[in-house]
Amino acid sequence: MIERNSGFGNLAAGYLFPEVAKRRREYQAKHPDAKIISLGIGNTTEPLTPHIAKAMADYARGLGTASGYSGYGDEQGNTELREKIAEVLYKGMANADEIFISDGAKCDIARVQTLFGRKTPIAVQDPAYPVYVDGSVIVGAAGKAGKKGYKGVTYLPCTAENKFFPDLSVIQPNSLIYFCSPNNPTGATATKEQLKKLVAFANKNGCIIIFDAAYYAFIRNPALPKTIYEIPGARKCAIEINSFSKLAGFTGVRLGWSVVPSSLKFADGSSVRADWNRVMTTLFNGASNIAQAGGLAALDEVGRKETKQLVDYYLENAKLMKEALTGKNFSDAGVKVYYTGDSPYLWVYFPKYKSWDIFDKILNECNVVTTPGSGFGPAGEGYLRFSAFGHRKDVNEACKRLSKLKV
Ligand SMILES: *Cc1c(COP(=O)(O)O)cnc(C)c1O
Repeated sequence: MIERNSGFGNLAAGYLFPEVAKRRREYQAKHPDAKIISLGIGNTTEPLTPHIAKAMADYARGLGTASGYSGYGDEQGNTELREKIAEVLYKGMANADEIFISDGAKCDIARVQTLFGRKTPIAVQDPAYPVYVDGSVIVGAAGKAGKKGYKGVTYLPCTAENKFFPDLSVIQPNSLIYFCSPNNPTGATATKEQLKKLVAFANKNGCIIIFDAAYYAFIRNPALPKTIYEIPGARKCAIEINSFSKLAGFTGVRLGWSVVPSSLKFADGSSVRADWNRVMTTLFNGASNIAQAGGLAALDEVGRKETKQLVDYYLENAKLMKEALTGKNFSDAGVKVYYTGDSPYLWVYFPKYKSWDIFDKILNECNVVTTPGSGFGPAGEGYLRFSAFGHRKDVNEACKRLSKLKV
């Protein structure tokens, strides 16, 4: 018999979303008439914009003609799209040949692990998007889980006390640092000063930052950096992972990109970009050409206008939720809402409750599903994540119910 990859045995079960779904199902079974509303999902709900949908439909139709047909494209992505991303988002910061088109950020986060030695220490924000650590465990870059989390992983608590920016001094030299801004789940968006600290730390200590900017399109405060490359020195220490998922509602279409600057080097002086090019050409065969046609449309003038409106819709949802959650019933109970208006997630602290207890209370009394903060890491205990992805009428109804809740 064949030996199992020991990484899978090391993986602690991912209880969060299956457990949320289970509790919802059980409640619905007991209360068949309850109209449950989910503010728990990190999935987009509104349709693709007309301009983008048309570009993809036109491209797909063209594939059915002799002149419009194309097979495999470049594994690194359509040159026009790489150039467009470089021009629209990274002017003066990254070139088209440093941009690699993919089938999404999660897939890039999984593939990026192949670049580094198995003994590379890992540092990750706590709470965090689960893929950074779970992906590392699967490939054997992190070991078994103990009391303090997985072996080989340094957890960086991000709490209200440190304004959701971690103490970097606990990171070991020569670490891989996963950093997500705007953050899922806390919604915190790092300032220029904070990212300067992060980049300076990485450059001084031989670290590489994997910067997840999947929510950059939600940033509305013009002073906040939308890409790590706005920070001088980042081209020497950072890979950026990005996506059309939250920018243009491509969660089901699947399209993302990574940026690997040519100045990024391994300990032996070799080029990270060259190995990444090898990974993408060997283990990946290019993103869907239909999706890439949609990506191009999303970044032209009309597409940018439309996607801004699309993101604004979710930001308006978030504003309505913030109003409801800062009502007297909540503020009198000491509930704290952390939300700056630059992400789709509200991070809400309930002083008298554990995450799962307040999750159950809100499910039972409001028929509203949220996400327990503790599921994203120990520093999330006592918090709930409220997601602004939803239809307006559902958000309005959920807010009405929440405003009557006694906490
Ligand atoms: C949704 C999300 C992504 C996007 O993943 P895709 O695979 O591109 O859909 C990446 N990072 C974080 C933190 C996310 O929440």
